[in-house]
Amino acid sequence: MTTSAFDIAILGAGPVGRVLALMLAREAPDPARIALVQGAAPGAVPPAAADPRVLAMNQGSRVLLESLHAWPERSADIRHIHVSQRGRLGRTLIQAADFGVPQLGSVVPYAGLHAHLEARVAASGVTVLSGPPARIDVQDADGIEIVQGDSRLRCRVAVQSDGAGAPDVRREYGQHAVLATVRAALPRPGWAWERFTPEGPLALLPHPQQADACSVVWCSAPARAAELAGLDDAAFSRALTEAFGDRLGRLHALAPRHVFPLALSARRAQVQGRTVAIGNAAQTLHPVAGQGLNLGLRDAARLAQALAPWLLAPQASPAPALDEFAGARQFDRYLTAGITDLMPRVFATRLAPVEHACGLALLALDLSAGLRAPLARHLLQGFRA
Ligand SMILES: Cc1cc2nc3c(=O)[nH]c(=O)nc-3n(C[C@H](O)[C@H](O)[C@H](O)COP(=O)(O)OP(=O)(O)OC[C@H]3O[C@@H](n4cnc5c(N)ncnc54)[C@H](O)[C@@H]3O)c2cc1C
Repeated sequence: MTTSAFDIAILGAGPVGRVLALMLAREAPDPARIALVQGAAPGAVPPAAADPRVLAMNQGSRVLLESLHAWPERSADIRHIHVSQRGRLGRTLIQAADFGVPQLGSVVPYAGLHAHLEARVAASGVTVLSGPPARIDVQDADGIEIVQGDSRLRCRVAVQSDGAGAPDVRREYGQHAVLATVRAALPRPGWAWERFTPEGPLALLPHPQQADACSVVWCSAPARAAELAGLDDAAFSRALTEAFGDRLGRLHALAPRHVFPLALSARRAQVQGRTVAIGNAAQTLHPVAGQGLNLGLRDAARLAQALAPWLLAPQASPAPALDEFAGARQFDRYLTAGITDLMPRVFATRLAPVEHACGLALLALDLSAGLRAPLARHLLQGFRA
């Protein structure tokens, strides 16, 4: 068994781990002393390069990724977001013009983002260690030992960015997400739609690679999701058009469909000794409102900021930097997890008074910019301490 030593080891090379690696590489006197440990979770399907997810990125995430030269060349802007409830009155429209910005966000393919980040990391000087799934073995007062296959590495700080979530807080939504691509008879470029149905939220986003298409994230009970995924294209198109309504005319399914199980899982504490969890490893959220990666990128950016001074003298204890990080991130994590946990549950109660109240809330949000702006601003920009 070989052993190597690093200042920081990042376990998990998804978008959050890679962004952290790039940000730390800019601060570190010797980027090679940062290890990015790349390996798939046991049985992980699909691989990152073929991941079918599309991701709605807010403006803050876009600025961050552009500053790292990692923004994919193909993306679709969101200039209008329409939120409604199936079968009930009330809707809210959020427009880029309300905020004086050119777009509210942009949609990128997970696989395209992964490819860009992979190329940037390869050029960054960070040590990339590829192999089987890695795990933390021992943590003592001075450091941490990580095992990956036949290799063992020692580091002063270990960052868990393996997307694996945690059992501290867990909620099963009884929902799976069906991902699909559809073409609309009446396309409206720049529009994103979030429609709450009793089965679960249904989102249509501008497709990042096909101007006249939409990416669909349709949440429903697991059995219904399996049924939807197994329909032929014509039957799926009919079911989707019926659930979404006629705002885009008839919808035609284009591509294979994929199913993702959904659950909330979160750690109460991001930091334990010299170990810190970020991104989905710290909190895996329901995809409603497209917040998971945006939140994870804010974790990565804040952690890099906190660790930058320590990287100049890594013999010192990292505890003050990690404590500062944990304190700074708490409010944003709780608020974002709270909003994305509440939304899919409250709209799916199937209780008429609650559904009416939700409709009124959407109406109130639509009528009052004063109510709409703070919620929209949080979802579009997030909280940065
Ligand atoms: C259907 C759906 C739609 C979504 N839409 C949006 C959206 O619009 N906007 C948004 O912001 N977020 C969205 N999300 C959430 C977003 O995909 C995640 O928040 C994001 O991918 C988290 O990134 P991560 O790097 O933390 O974890 P991951 O993307 O899960 O990456 C973790 C990496 O670590 C690797 N790994 C796992 N175990 C190990 C191990 N033991 N050793 C080494 N490596 C390991 C994995 O193979 C993987 O490459 C969506 C999620 C879903 C399911």
